[in-house]
Amino acid sequence: MEVDGVNVRKEKDGRLVIPGEPLSVIEEFMPGPGTYVDEKRGQVKAEYVGRLHIDLKERRIAVKPVAPLRIPQVGRIVVGQVVSMDDKYAMIRFPSGKFTGFFTGVLNISMVSRRFVKSMFDVCRVGDIVRAQIVSLANGFCHLSIIGRHLGVIYANCTQCGKPLELKGGSLYCPRCMRVERRKVALGYGKFRGEFIEDSHTRKGR
Ligand SMILES: [Zn+2]
Repeated sequence: MEVDGVNVRKEKDGRLVIPGEPLSVIEEFMPGPGTYVDEKRGQVKAEYVGRLHIDLKERRIAVKPVAPLRIPQVGRIVVGQVVSMDDKYAMIRFPSGKFTGFFTGVLNISMVSRRFVKSMFDVCRVGDIVRAQIVSLANGFCHLSIIGRHLGVIYANCTQCGKPLELKGGSLYCPRCMRVERRKVALGYGKFRGEFIEDSHTRKGR
């Protein structure tokens, strides 16, 4: 059964969810950690990338962050969401095991490709899910790189209508608007499985 875009069938515990994804209608479950209420639609939505956790006794739905990093470390591969950007920079938020729940990394336009890239708007957009590597922790910042075929955008919504973009012949395409959007797409785009999660203990029970 579908109610206002939310599938009210038995939700699967442990399923991977993405930020902004509707998880439940508010009548059905209480919002737990890692979720927020979309008042307009009456839905409980995921706040960050993670695994769905359903507490049937408490009627509560929550999201457990995937691969939370205690401390950012150079060399680690992380998966996060673009939260702000301009022409030359993108800020990417990752789940962390710290009490704040997040840390933020900065992606400079020079760390996108070995070739010259003019604008970050050709690389990613706010809301995109990105797989990146931590390359430096200089000056108190977590510096990221998406150079390499396996790094880049792994999930994106259409900037016009919000529908997930599909990979078609190397470009990202919105089936509703019938238009192409530019991104630096990572290998495995759209295959939102556990394999990119670097922390092996989060794979248990899959
Ligand atoms: Zn669209």
